[in-house]
Amino acid sequence: MSGQYAPRAETIVDLDALRHNVALLAERAKVPVMAVVKADGYGHGAVPIAKAALEAGATWLGACSAVEALTLREAGIEAPILAWLYGPGEDLSDAIAAGVDLGVSSMDELRAAEGAAIHLKIDTGLNRNGCPPEEWPELVRAARDHNVRAIWSHFASADEPGDPSVDRQAERFEQAYEIAVAEGLKPMRHISNSAATLTRPDLAYDMVRVGIAMYGLNPVPQQEDLRPVMTFRSSVASVKRTRAGEGVSYGLTWIAQQDTTLALVPVGYGDGVPRGLSGKLEVFVAGHRRPVVGRVCMDQIVVDCGDDKVRPGDEVILFGPGDRGEPTAREWADNLGTIDYEIVTNMYRPRVVRRYVGARG
Ligand SMILES: *Cc1c(COP(=O)(O)O)cnc(C)c1O
Repeated sequence: MSGQYAPRAETIVDLDALRHNVALLAERAKVPVMAVVKADGYGHGAVPIAKAALEAGATWLGACSAVEALTLREAGIEAPILAWLYGPGEDLSDAIAAGVDLGVSSMDELRAAEGAAIHLKIDTGLNRNGCPPEEWPELVRAARDHNVRAIWSHFASADEPGDPSVDRQAERFEQAYEIAVAEGLKPMRHISNSAATLTRPDLAYDMVRVGIAMYGLNPVPQQEDLRPVMTFRSSVASVKRTRAGEGVSYGLTWIAQQDTTLALVPVGYGDGVPRGLSGKLEVFVAGHRRPVVGRVCMDQIVVDCGDDKVRPGDEVILFGPGDRGEPTAREWADNLGTIDYEIVTNMYRPRVVRRYVGARG
């Protein structure tokens, strides 16, 4: 490569923050931790996240698809991995040969997972996959001559502490476990996601599966010492003065009320800045929060800097941990009517460069 390449936008992924969060969750759970790295590590990069999580004490990895699990194996990761969602007829032989454990919710999946260590999934009330309780005894019986490592399930509303569904699901989970034990199985049990890990340590059983909290985003109302792992930053591309009465960006939806300085930032909805945040977005530039004015475009946004001295090349933070007063992924989510999971997971973008800080080795 020749010349200097300054990325127009980057996500900075703080692996020290990730390790801090994993250690906090492990300490809270007091049982082994599965680090969930599906969807490319919630947009943070599955392989570096998996490695840092293992360094910090996680002992398992959770992937959604078999392909995601194989990506981890191809990166040389030997820790146990569970993959839990595959389609009918999907060829699982590579995953099985690579020692990936598979979630099994039905007799068909039991056949498909032949040769793998399996985690039998009971539907305790989320009603997505998982074996319905009526079919559970048959599945458990048929699984006796397989390598059954665990039984497991997934909560619907653990992020609403006190929601009665949590205890109801735990009760059904225990009934399913009793049936498995009565059939001679001795599986481990796991049901808790991040929210349950933080609020219901009594339901940690033999392992917890943590995703969002490991990335430093708190899924529960109570305050937690979690550190957001991702910062989304860019820099000012150009600056100009504009006169009172001039409109800005497509549709001229914003009109300058007085003469002002506008900074152009080269990120838009093609880089993960939702167009739905037009008129509701602030960024942190030259030490202040400043409003983004007019519509968010595919490739750019315009920031009203008033009479501040802003220069091309100045750093612009779109979201980060919030320590310096910059917006957070949570703030974006609240303004959009979504959850921060979606904001960070959407940051896997070809034009946005990922940079890791705090890497070891
Ligand atoms: C995504 C996922 C998790 C992690 O959930 P968080 O809320 O991010 O902690 C755990 N288990 C399963 C089955 C999942 O799909």
